[in-house]
Amino acid sequence: MQKTIITVQDLYKNYGNFEAVKGISFDVKEGEIFGLLGPNGAGKSTTLEIIETLRDKASGKITVDGLDLDISPNEIKKIIGVQLQTSGYYPGLNLVELIHLFAGLYNEHVDPMQLLDSVNLRDKAKNKFKELSGGQKQRFSIATTLINKPKIIFLDEPTTGLDPQARRNLWDLIRDIRSKGTTVIITTHYMDEAEVLCDRVAIIDSGKIIALSTPDQLIDDLVATGFERPKEVKQANLEDVFIHLTGKHLREE
Ligand code: ADP
Ligand code: MG
Repeated sequence: MQKTIITVQDLYKNYGNFEAVKGISFDVKEGEIFGLLGPNGAGKSTTLEIIETLRDKASGKITVDGLDLDISPNEIKKIIGVQLQTSGYYPGLNLVELIHLFAGLYNEHVDPMQLLDSVNLRDKAKNKFKELSGGQKQRFSIATTLINKPKIIFLDEPTTGLDPQARRNLWDLIRDIRSKGTTVIITTHYMDEAEVLCDRVAIIDSGKIIALSTPDQLIDDLVATGFERPKEVKQANLEDVFIHLTGKHLREE
């Protein structure tokens, strides 16, 4: 039995008199990639930011690696990795300088080149953040979540707006991070991505979890209701054409 690393019990959050999160409960297992899916405004980011200790909740109980969020938020901060808003990247600094800056904030010693290597950005060490492509920016931003060697990282729509190759490259990176033992919580609007990447997903709608299981089980459940997809006549789709023609390798330079 896999160990539970996060528990969320009956979480509520309101902004004024608008209820954004209405009694959400779920567990995340150690070492899994857990997806939060749902339409815009469903309450995904709110839920993540509460677990990340960045936002207050109205009520509910949250534990992260055995730590109660109400009692030990600072201890929780030390064992999690959170992507910063990109506006937080000082425009005048290059990637190595930014890593030194963040490492200083965390009081951690890191080898910037080794960290950049791990996200395939060694060549960009002397570049500024704004000089990176969309995919490179996301990879750098994920690298910064790893500085404090966290047990859990939170990725809120890391692949939104990326081209198909950059998206696949990020999947490899996320799998790589997980294979080293880090638990990953991710939100995405791409269902193909959730299907190949996530061990389990929770589907949130209007502040409530309406389904939670493995992608495979959710699909089987739907099929068991008699659902049938309109027959696919073609053996490939336009994304297959795109990847076939342009290659799977990175094309960012
Ligand atoms: P998601 O990430 O699933 O798109 P959010 O958690 O960002 O959803 O938002 C959930 C709901 O809460 C939305 O209706 C949003 O407009 C509202 N909301 C989010 N942040 C705030 C805020 N700071 N003040 C008021 N309403 C907010
Ligand atoms: Mg969001």
